[in-house]
Amino acid sequence: MSLKSDDPNYYAHQYNWKSESGSSRKIRILDSTLREGEQHPGVSFTIKQRIQIAWMLDSFGVDQIEISPVVSPDHMEATKTIIRQGLSANIVAHTRAIKSDVDVAIDCGATWVATYMGISDIHLSAKLKISREEAKARALEVADYIKAHGLKSRFTMEDASRTEPAFLIEMCKEMNRRGIERISIPDTVGIMRPRGMYNLVKMVHDSIDTSKTSLDVHCHNDVGLALANALAGCEAGADQIHTTIDGFGERTGIPSLAETAVALTLIYKSNNDLRLHMLKDLSKTISEYISLPVPESKPIVGDSAYKHKAGTHLAAILRNPAAYEIIEPKVVGNRRKIVFGELAGKNGAAYLLSLLGLETGRHEAETLARGLKDLRMGDILELYLDDRLERKILNDAAVKVSPSTKE
Ligand SMILES: [Zn+2]
Repeated sequence: MSLKSDDPNYYAHQYNWKSESGSSRKIRILDSTLREGEQHPGVSFTIKQRIQIAWMLDSFGVDQIEISPVVSPDHMEATKTIIRQGLSANIVAHTRAIKSDVDVAIDCGATWVATYMGISDIHLSAKLKISREEAKARALEVADYIKAHGLKSRFTMEDASRTEPAFLIEMCKEMNRRGIERISIPDTVGIMRPRGMYNLVKMVHDSIDTSKTSLDVHCHNDVGLALANALAGCEAGADQIHTTIDGFGERTGIPSLAETAVALTLIYKSNNDLRLHMLKDLSKTISEYISLPVPESKPIVGDSAYKHKAGTHLAAILRNPAAYEIIEPKVVGNRRKIVFGELAGKNGAAYLLSLLGLETGRHEAETLARGLKDLRMGDILELYLDDRLERKILNDAAVKVSPSTKE
């Protein structure tokens, strides 16, 4: 991704990088499709599907894959099998902050264990029914237990964004002192705005020894700010974002893997080694497994993500797709599509005529454009454009209809 003034995204990048050092750092991805994703209503995978998903995520290039072995015997078997595969990504066994849960993770052969505890007053009173002191004692006992077994670990401060700051810091410092490798700072209910998430993560980051402990961000999408908040948390010092394929999770989920991967690569210039071309297939696979269609308008992987309809857009796209696309569809495994109908205008009509091998002069194009409008049937035809077809259209038709003519 070059920063050259002939790059159509040049000025956008200038704004994005203003007042920053300009040096990018790697922001890692933990994918939780097998844990958070399965908490989405209606989502449940078979053991075989879980193993397949882990393989796909690993070859895509995520850094960590999270799975909960304590949910059911099937989950335990899947966790054991996935750990035995020897994948490049760390397999993180997710458990409650209870010794017997940690024992299950150990039985699975886990080397990474993530435990969590809701530490906001509302979670302590409504869910755990214990005091802060009891919560702290319980969490630290489990942290010591994990460390005594020589495991790497993450502790999730559930509902961190609604926890009294002094108590949150106290808990983080204790975990930091014990050498817990990662602390996750979640916005469990999706209440934060990006600036707030930045402030929260910065406060934690500045309070601990970050040579011993790194920070994760786990942001929920209740008002659609999950990815923005997660990225703001990374700007404040976190270096790992939790995602799921297509963003599935409790309620409205967490950031989607595709959106996060493209944001990190294209906008944050994070140095990840990701097979972006797998994104569409990852989404399709999950959609088939759970029999839930991918919304057409879903960024990056949706069928409309690279669909162009209005005549003026069509005309520009066929001259230079960068006019309306920030990343080539094939880079993320998607395809460009054009739509012909009442909005096609002269340029769109000319392209359609060209495709059909007909005369593409101004008169013919105007007649067809009027005909498409008069039909009043909305979109009539959608076509995938492969490279060969795009070149043909460009060569055959674009020159014959003036680009400056108003639609
Ligand atoms: Zn969550």
